[in-house]
Amino acid sequence: MELPFSESYKIKMIEQLKRSTREQREEWIKEAQYNLFKLSSDKVFIDLLTDSGTGAMSDRQWAAIMTGDESYAGARSFFELKSTVQKIMGFEYMLPTHQGRAAENVLFSVLIKEGDIVPGNSHFDTTKGHIEFRKAKAVDCTIDEAFDTTLDHPFKGNIDIEKLEKVYKEYPREKIPCCVVTVTCNSSGGQPVSIANLREVSQLSKKYGVPVLFDSARFSENAYFLKMREPEFKNWTIKEIVREMYKYADMATMSSKKDGLVNIGGFIGLHSEEIYRQACTFNIMFEGYITYGGMSGRDMAALAVGLDESTEFEYLETRIKQIEYLGNKLIEYGVPIQYPIGGHAIFVDANKILPNVPKEQFRAQTLGVELYIEGGIRGVEIGAILADRDPVTRENRFPKLELLRLAIPRRVYTNNHMDYIAAALKNVFDRRHQIKSGLEITWEAPIMRHFTVEMKKA
Ligand SMILES: *Cc1c(COP(=O)(O)O)cnc(C)c1O
Repeated sequence: MELPFSESYKIKMIEQLKRSTREQREEWIKEAQYNLFKLSSDKVFIDLLTDSGTGAMSDRQWAAIMTGDESYAGARSFFELKSTVQKIMGFEYMLPTHQGRAAENVLFSVLIKEGDIVPGNSHFDTTKGHIEFRKAKAVDCTIDEAFDTTLDHPFKGNIDIEKLEKVYKEYPREKIPCCVVTVTCNSSGGQPVSIANLREVSQLSKKYGVPVLFDSARFSENAYFLKMREPEFKNWTIKEIVREMYKYADMATMSSKKDGLVNIGGFIGLHSEEIYRQACTFNIMFEGYITYGGMSGRDMAALAVGLDESTEFEYLETRIKQIEYLGNKLIEYGVPIQYPIGGHAIFVDANKILPNVPKEQFRAQTLGVELYIEGGIRGVEIGAILADRDPVTRENRFPKLELLRLAIPRRVYTNNHMDYIAAALKNVFDRRHQIKSGLEITWEAPIMRHFTVEMKKA
């Protein structure tokens, strides 16, 4: 008999989960104004809100915690992190920040000014937020295939080179501070970007003199997909593939809460000394001195180990296979999800499940609320609430996709949990025809409203 796949680690510490009843959950979600972010975590059984900062650290990382050097300036832990980033991504300059959006805030303070245009594949929400906050515009140049959830395309994170060149031709160079390539592309479903595409983006951007920035939160998951899907890299190690990817990046922002395998942290990677110097000033203003930037020494030490672990094949294989396991269960149950299955999450197609709910009543959010009530599972909406209003017209933006994202924390849940999630979602799917109305917004913030929005049943 062929041996089945099994996880590449065992469990050293456990955390008790709290179960609840459907009646309790109906009450709790109403109290939370139908915003899953407003639920306290003890009211959640399986938490798939995000894979950001929710992972489990390894014994090696916990050991590194004890070695952290808390010196204000020039801490040893900083140099460990700096040399790891240099080894893995190749950047000479590194600035720690407290998380990914802080890296964006610091770097964009140097790069972006009012009226600028920032092309890329689908920008992550905080990235877009930081661009729009500076009264600049993010232009989505993702390939059209990414928006068809049924289409099997190996690299749905790819940038459409023609769309990108159109932007480069339409606007003068000084209006385009950088091109942001998000690897893997979160907003189009954790979909990878191919090296072939990175090469083309790099080449075209060089021609127009535009630097390329990798939004790197899930860079090692991207490398795993390259190994599996791009024949050139079949026999390469993940670390070799990562180095190849970063040949095409001039700079990077990183949320270490994802592929850094830590609970908090981020950094900026740079080749340019000039940009580094300017970024140092903003880092000191917003984050902390340049050798800690909002991170404690022990967190930098754990991150250095985390970056090393996340670029090992064994770790990535276990992680991605768990996402596939859940995805394949859902496919078996007929639940429409985005193909191919992405790196960190399953994206459930709410437009297909709840076509009877008017899109103005937020289909994906409605589905998320139903799944919570069904099984105490917390996902997150990637749809019209997240898409927010147009900054100029203030009209609601309705994206092509209404997705419920089930993000799987790293090294946290077992495949029994995956079975439970799939069964709960199947139950909601089976009663989908009874769900005819959704939600209405009663209060929202002027920017990034999804975190704090308040709603009622429509
Ligand atoms: C998470 C994430 C960010 C922001 O990072 P935080 O650590 O949450 O501030 C930026 N870009 C991408 C692609 C991300 O996944």
